[in-house]
Amino acid sequence: RIADLVQEGIPLDRWPGEFFRVENNIRRRGLLLGNPATDGAALRRLLDEGADAALAEVERSGLRGRGGAGFTTALKWRFCREAPGTDRYVVCNADEGEPGTFKDRVLLTDYADLVIEGMTVCAGVIGARRGFLYLRGEYLYLLPHLESVLQRRRAEGLLGARILGRDGFDFDIEIHLGAGAYICGEESALIESLEGKRGVTRKRPPFPVTSGFDDQPTVVNNVETFLAAARVVQWGGYWLRGEGTDQSAGSKILSVSGDCARPGIYEYPFGTPVHRVLSDCGAENTQAVQISGAAGATLSPADFDRIIAFEDLPTAGSFMIFDDSRDLLDMVRNFAAFFAHESCGFCTPCRVGGALLRNLVEKVVAGQGSEYDLSEIRHIGAVMRQASYCGLGHTAPNHVLNTLDKFPSIYRRRLAREAHTPSFDLDAALS
Ligand code: NAD
Repeated sequence: RIADLVQEGIPLDRWPGEFFRVENNIRRRGLLLGNPATDGAALRRLLDEGADAALAEVERSGLRGRGGAGFTTALKWRFCREAPGTDRYVVCNADEGEPGTFKDRVLLTDYADLVIEGMTVCAGVIGARRGFLYLRGEYLYLLPHLESVLQRRRAEGLLGARILGRDGFDFDIEIHLGAGAYICGEESALIESLEGKRGVTRKRPPFPVTSGFDDQPTVVNNVETFLAAARVVQWGGYWLRGEGTDQSAGSKILSVSGDCARPGIYEYPFGTPVHRVLSDCGAENTQAVQISGAAGATLSPADFDRIIAFEDLPTAGSFMIFDDSRDLLDMVRNFAAFFAHESCGFCTPCRVGGALLRNLVEKVVAGQGSEYDLSEIRHIGAVMRQASYCGLGHTAPNHVLNTLDKFPSIYRRRLAREAHTPSFDLDAALS
């Protein structure tokens, strides 16, 4: 087991080459990476053994959604299958807009067949006839490639009417291009966009499994989830269950970037500590790691023994490394501008809070901030976390609040000399 190799500290070059792959210089097989081959084996198994058996394999595998939240895939598929509705839909969320995340781009480039196979298996399990692949607008260049894979699969009888000759198993996929809005990566905004409307999140519940596209039961899963699901149905649930931790079965594909010698796509079994990833990719003097993108957590060296797993550090896959030559305030400023720009504008806490946070961060960066501004940042961040309408606003202040807690000196050293006023406690003043 790779988990044992990690625990025993066996150097990377002595790993057996079964479960791991580095995109840029070392090529080895991973649980998912390294083996893009498929000949419809998962679909054949689905048809041979039936939808109940396929769903049982997904259940047995313990597969959890790879978009970041980790909802149990089998449960999602079962809820959708059992929900009342006239039609059912399968949606692949390929709106990979999280800063620092690029693994879905690689998966769609090299593993598109498997991703589509996973969507088709899902359709067979829940009884869907129509699916959508919602592709990030910036990945427009992938469109001809993906269309050609769909076309070939139709010609091979793996997609379209009477899949593999089975009466009643009809399923086809359309590719829908996003237009560059980060919010459309959130599933309900994505569905709104698919329906031709402005990408604004819906109130959940009801979740898409009961009321998704066209208000019908819909499964929305990430690219990596469909890829893993195809293999689970092909090779069985125990195959995935055999790696990872109790609560996080299998592996996670990471997009590793920033201050390291070997950036790229890495696959690790869940349970791998952060320091292992840092040493494998050749990161030195690491000051911080931003995990799970701009909306995620900022890790300091005190966190580097923590493990990548839903029970400790869940991640959608982004792993951005900052060494000690960096001013982390540059990162904060960048993310604050990003969120101010990407707020959909629907709710006030996110729309106004995001702009205020950006302005306050700019003020601190310019050397004109005060302790009062820092307490304002905390206050506005807390309001955004609590009162925003959707996940974008809830997570938008994470980077600034995290760095204020873990790296207070990056702020304090930039405060204006004359502005060192006593800290101002708004709540105390109001009470
Ligand atoms: P969530 O926990 O609300 O839902 C996760 C999934 O489970 C959704 O598909 C949802 O429909 C389903 N679900 C949850 N409860 C359900 C229920 N009771 N019944 C049926 N289905 C249910 O999380 P979310 O708001 O969809 O996403 C937040 C996550 O997205 C965060 O963990 C964050 O890390 C991640 N994220 C990912 C990216 C990215 O680029 N992949 C970007 C930003 C955030």
